[in-house]
Amino acid sequence: MNSTAASPAVDPVPAAAMAEQVLEVAGLNTRFDTPDGEVRAVNDVSFTVARGETVGVVGESGSGKSQVFLSVMGLLASNGNATGRVRFKGQDILGLPAAKLNRLRGSRMSMIFQDPMTSLNPFLTVARQLTEVLVLHKGMGERQALKRSIEMLDLVRIPEAARRIGMYPHEFSGGMRQRVMIAMALLCQPDLLIADEPTTALDVTVQAQILDLMQTLKREFNTSIVLITHDLGVIAGLADRVMVMYAGSVVEEGAVREIFYDPQHPYTVGLLHSMPRLAAGRKERLVSIPGQPPNLQRLPKGCPFRPRCSHAFAPCSETDPALRPTGPGRAKACHLDAMP
Ligand code: SF4
Repeated sequence: MNSTAASPAVDPVPAAAMAEQVLEVAGLNTRFDTPDGEVRAVNDVSFTVARGETVGVVGESGSGKSQVFLSVMGLLASNGNATGRVRFKGQDILGLPAAKLNRLRGSRMSMIFQDPMTSLNPFLTVARQLTEVLVLHKGMGERQALKRSIEMLDLVRIPEAARRIGMYPHEFSGGMRQRVMIAMALLCQPDLLIADEPTTALDVTVQAQILDLMQTLKREFNTSIVLITHDLGVIAGLADRVMVMYAGSVVEEGAVREIFYDPQHPYTVGLLHSMPRLAAGRKERLVSIPGQPPNLQRLPKGCPFRPRCSHAFAPCSETDPALRPTGPGRAKACHLDAMP
């Protein structure tokens, strides 16, 4: 903590000038009891998300990235248990009773998923589903709620919103359903939007439109966004910071440019090499990371990435490297001082 007692001439930093942390997670551990033993899905994960900031969370499937945010939202499967500390706008929310969490979810923090049908009810019209959120969380009357819902569909660029709002989810295309889900998540102007692989099932053009839409909404509402994806390319134009996860732990984090142009963890380098991109007008050869992610019930001794790492050396077999700072806003969990 900075102290101003010894230098009275220096004004303290005004509180308003400091970034407000919307989400603070410290020492989060998530475990699942299964008939085959305990699954260690999230291991000692800590991070913050500031107001208006977009944080990309990247890793292969099974890296724990979704489980971190299902833990944050109180949406773990019944055999799951999360411990540690989760603060949302200064309030401890881990383990909060369902009724209190429900009031936060859908109003102050929202989550959208790869499959819109996870959030949308196929048996109710879009109008009914959107207005219900506003009636429930904002106490609006039906007429006002319908007007606001149409405005929101307009905002997410659903053509002829006033007519289409009376349709059922199956009457929309995949990309349009995704927009409806985003509209529903943003109806109450949440402080935090968690998007879990929101564009994975969509074709490249629609994917670009949805990401562009999220960028616009972020500017418009100053919403903090967490974008969870297995594809580093998705976050290139959207994220301010990136958190790379492997085997339930954060292995590297930093500003998006640093992660792209100066990756410091062999796993991040592997993810970048497996990302389709055009370089100097020609297609680069894609190289996938050899091997498979480890079994989270039986993590290997030492660094969990060692069996797949071409830079492994003696200490990697002995000790699991802790996440350590490597520069301002940067950290990595690797025994290497620098990438060779
Ligand atoms: Fe590779 Fe060793 Fe670094 Fe793990 S600690 S990523 S095995 S070099």
